[in-house]
Amino acid sequence: MALIVQKFGGTSVKDAPSIARVAGIVAETYSEGNDVIVVVSAQGDTTDDLIAKANEINPNHSRREHDMLVSAGEQISISLLAMALEKIGLPVVSLLGWQAGFTTNSSYTAARIKKINKERLQNELDSHKIVVVAGFQGINKYDDITTLGRGGSDTSAVALAAALHADRCQIFTDVTGVFTADPRKVKGAVKLSEITYDEMLELASCGAQVLNNRSVEMAKKYNVELEVLSSIEREPGTIVKEATKMEKMLIRGVAKDNDVARISVLRLPDSPGIAFKLFSKLAYRKVNVDIILQSVGRDGTKDITFTVPRGDDQLARDAVFEAFPDLTEDNFIVDTNVSKVSIVGAGMETHPGTASQMFEALFDAGINIQMISTSEIKISVLVDQGDADKAISAIHDSFFPED
Ligand code: ASP
Ligand code: MG
Repeated sequence: MALIVQKFGGTSVKDAPSIARVAGIVAETYSEGNDVIVVVSAQGDTTDDLIAKANEINPNHSRREHDMLVSAGEQISISLLAMALEKIGLPVVSLLGWQAGFTTNSSYTAARIKKINKERLQNELDSHKIVVVAGFQGINKYDDITTLGRGGSDTSAVALAAALHADRCQIFTDVTGVFTADPRKVKGAVKLSEITYDEMLELASCGAQVLNNRSVEMAKKYNVELEVLSSIEREPGTIVKEATKMEKMLIRGVAKDNDVARISVLRLPDSPGIAFKLFSKLAYRKVNVDIILQSVGRDGTKDITFTVPRGDDQLARDAVFEAFPDLTEDNFIVDTNVSKVSIVGAGMETHPGTASQMFEALFDAGINIQMISTSEIKISVLVDQGDADKAISAIHDSFFPED
């Protein structure tokens, strides 16, 4: 007998027929003789709707009350799913985050799980109940409700799997797994049978939003093997784990991220401490800088170009002008019409020529590269946003030729 954690996202429980389908999957797992813990998110757009309601009443509401409100979405879905399981005659109990033992720190809206008190969960499992747990939420030391940040139910599921040493952690979603590129956009995109935690993290940061980043970090830390699969099409999904058979694959996927702005600061003094001055001001404002490019000094000046999340372009501007009060508008360029296109794969670490193959594909497609950055398992380029989809297809065709 195995212990299986199954997590279902908002689209998988969006309405009564969907909940009935989920109940069917859970029932099947249970009737095979397994212990089952189910984690669910709020139905469909419930969380967004609740946030909109909050902002309608008071856009400056406290984060405590925010969490009190948005945690309600999951309370609805756990009880509905439990009722659907009762209907087919199965023993079930639904539990809110605090009832399931989730204690967190007090960072409302972005709380971190500190510990899971397993007693209640274990008792329910021992009496052979299916346990349906509200994802995304916990309780802090003041007995107040907290939430884990958007998409936090994945993290709840992984945390439960880690704490209870589950044999399997399945994340059901509306796609059948992790693909080499967005299958809706790139024809020839194929589903991966396996991917490593590190590759998954890099792909997620490139804008491939299949799993919440924090959940993958936690899975890596506690070595919880994940399976990403669809609740609609019943077929094997993608396994996320520490090491994979490379399947002769140089790269795992191509992804784009539109949430970027490129900022250039021109004609800065070419002297020591300039980069420090600039990036410390950005760090102080908690602006996350991604790609950085500094030009070679000429005539005593140099240019520094960097990228930030698009919504932070104003903060970045403030930081730049605070660091260099003498700058004028002529020295400062913001471009929000850019996209970051990346390839990810542990295979590139030992394989020369990956970058050149990517750049050749872009050249053949007539696409100009504005910036480049690399890590051990990722190469990213910044391109014009209008070119991004074409860039992805060109790169994908080169690395995954259709035979
Ligand atoms: N319902 C929450 C959200 O929409 C948590 C989750 O879906 O994982 O962010
Ligand atoms: Mg959701």
